[in-house]
Amino acid sequence: MPFAPSPCTLTPDLTVKQAIAAMQKAGVGFALVVEQQQLLGTISDRQILSLAASEQNWQDCLVADVLAQQMPSLPGSELSQAIEQPSLAVETYLNQELKSALETIELLETQLRNQEQNLEQSQSRLDGILSSIEDVVWAMIPGTWQLLYLNSATQKVFGRTIADFLQQLSLWQDMVHPDDRGLVEQAFESLYRSAREDIEYRIIWPNQEVRWVSSRIYLIKDEQGNPIRIDGITTDITARRQIQEALVYSALHDGLTGLANRNLLSDRLQQSCRRIRRQPNKLLAVLFLDLDRFKLINDSLGHQIGDQILITVAQRLQTCQRMGDTIARLGGDEFVLLLEDLESPEIALRVATRIHEALKAPIQIDGHEIVISTSIGIAFGTAQSCGDDTVANLLRDADTAMYRAKAIGQGKHEVFDHSMHTEALKQLETETDLRRLLTEAETAKGVSSELRVYYQPILALETLEIEGFEALVRWQHPQKGLIAPDEFIPIAEETGLIVRLDQWVVATAYRQLDLWQQQFPNLGPLSMSVNLSGKHFESPGLVAFFDQMLQDTKLAPSCLKLEITETAVIKNPEAAATTLEQLQRRGIQICLDDFGTGYASLSYLQAFPFHILKVDRSFIHKLGANQQDNTAITRAIVKLGNTLGLGIVAEGIEEWAQVEHLKSLDCSHGQGYLFSHPMSSGDATNFLVNAQEPAT
Ligand code: C2E
Ligand code: MG
Ligand code: MG
Repeated sequence: MPFAPSPCTLTPDLTVKQAIAAMQKAGVGFALVVEQQQLLGTISDRQILSLAASEQNWQDCLVADVLAQQMPSLPGSELSQAIEQPSLAVETYLNQELKSALETIELLETQLRNQEQNLEQSQSRLDGILSSIEDVVWAMIPGTWQLLYLNSATQKVFGRTIADFLQQLSLWQDMVHPDDRGLVEQAFESLYRSAREDIEYRIIWPNQEVRWVSSRIYLIKDEQGNPIRIDGITTDITARRQIQEALVYSALHDGLTGLANRNLLSDRLQQSCRRIRRQPNKLLAVLFLDLDRFKLINDSLGHQIGDQILITVAQRLQTCQRMGDTIARLGGDEFVLLLEDLESPEIALRVATRIHEALKAPIQIDGHEIVISTSIGIAFGTAQSCGDDTVANLLRDADTAMYRAKAIGQGKHEVFDHSMHTEALKQLETETDLRRLLTEAETAKGVSSELRVYYQPILALETLEIEGFEALVRWQHPQKGLIAPDEFIPIAEETGLIVRLDQWVVATAYRQLDLWQQQFPNLGPLSMSVNLSGKHFESPGLVAFFDQMLQDTKLAPSCLKLEITETAVIKNPEAAATTLEQLQRRGIQICLDDFGTGYASLSYLQAFPFHILKVDRSFIHKLGANQQDNTAITRAIVKLGNTLGLGIVAEGIEEWAQVEHLKSLDCSHGQGYLFSHPMSSGDATNFLVNAQEPAT
């Protein structure tokens, strides 16, 4: 507070106390200091009195007042000096102050210059960094799209120059893909709440190329919280997106044909089921396709040609599809068509017919002309039938119907009905029971509570002597009675249980033969024929299994006969030849069963080490009954077998006339209901007992 002079009477005979009081009264600021200094003894009374009494310009008191601010820190001598010559003290003080202020200014200026230099350096470093990075760094004024900054990556990422953006403020929005504009606008709106947004969207380059970018956007506010800037970094993510899309595509599509795969089909089916629930007058249809004889083609012509066929089939199926239909490949030779929005079931049937037609034209691959057909199962879904678990059910039902179509013949289609489902369940039950029975037999030294081996004698037609037996499996079911092999062997083959089943039959039959040979030594060395399924014949360990059998039973290998069909051999002729030779080397006899019904080339008869031809009963059945053609075929087969030095067994002899006829054709052996139906081991033993008793 500046000192304001006030009247104060000063006389020469003042006491020190009075002088100080007078000074205080006059408002002289340093009076208090003087008093303190006096108490400390650093100022003499004389000095105080002269100070008080001196005829000073009161203006000095003002200066002195300033001095008072400093005085507490002044040493006593300087204080008295200052009191005596206040103007000089003030001047000195001010000079010092000025000097130090100038020094401070100079220092600050130097610091400022350094800082400016540093700033410039960092600015150019920053510019260098920003122009060298591959991402677009930008800043704009909120709400206006007016640019504050944009780095040179703009050209690389947006395909446009910085000038383009400066000239056309709306370019930011215009270049965004129309489908993603909503997304981008929404992100800019949300930014005012969230302060940071991350978005991925498509932009269109001037050359119309669509590219993916990701932008990280920040809203910058001032101290009052008002938005002042939007900063962003935009990165080109096209390559990453393409990889992602390729991954998603391959997760949902079949690699070979490019069709939808099981995952995508399930997804589409699910959506379709959901939609149909809201459309009571519409239907959806699942067409389950399985190519006929594809495995045979694949095995004989090789997988590369197999793949080509699948690709061609996929292409032809696409020509049968309507807009919005889904075609999927489930794997192997299985395809599925999902038809939606059907007004009536007939449309699905028409599509099935179109598919059969489309596949009819032969496929030309590498000089091969391949004719392919497909069996199709159709299942329908309606608003009433489509529930949560319908997807799996629809596929299952269409698959079941496809099996039914296959059973009818090649190139057919069938619509699923619930009796098929019952049938499928029955098959599943059979599989489960069979598995249980085999496990039980394997753990009980071959004894089974329900599985049986029946034996049908094979006789020399000339002498009617029993040469041996064919072992035929039966299932003595507690509820269903005696089940014939046709009812469960196909299921055993499909499920792979056939290997265990055949092995059980072989072991049981050989044990039985062992017993009979001991029991009936005078009947000569009886033989035992067992049937081997194609699946079993292909399985590894087959030869080792027979080695073990020979070791366990001590039977002469020549008494053991294996019956295989033509289809088992033609699937993989090289492997079949190797296996047959190994078995033959052990002395085991090989019979070609059901001869004449398969597709084997006659040259196979010579190429493979067969010992016996079994003429299928379809030829024997019609023998002689004014069936010239059949007789001719049978005669040719028998002649061929005899010429090649093979034994001949005629199957299914039911009449004596057939025996006579066969004898006239030079057929040596036969079996059939005429001599005996297949019998249980007990009945077959009695049969042998009767056979060894001389006829009375
Ligand atoms: P297959 O090997 O050709 O067996 C001959 C079939 O003809 C037997 O039928 C037999 O009962 C029947 N049969 C015999 N004589 C006559 C006759 O005079 N008239 C008629 N109509 N039929 C006669 P089954 O036992 O029903 O066997 C059918 C097929 O099942 C067999 O044909 C064979 O391929 C297969 N099979 C039977 N047992 C086994 C087995 O243990 N393993 C394998 N893998 N297949 C077996
Ligand atoms: Mg047989
Ligand atoms: Mg047969």
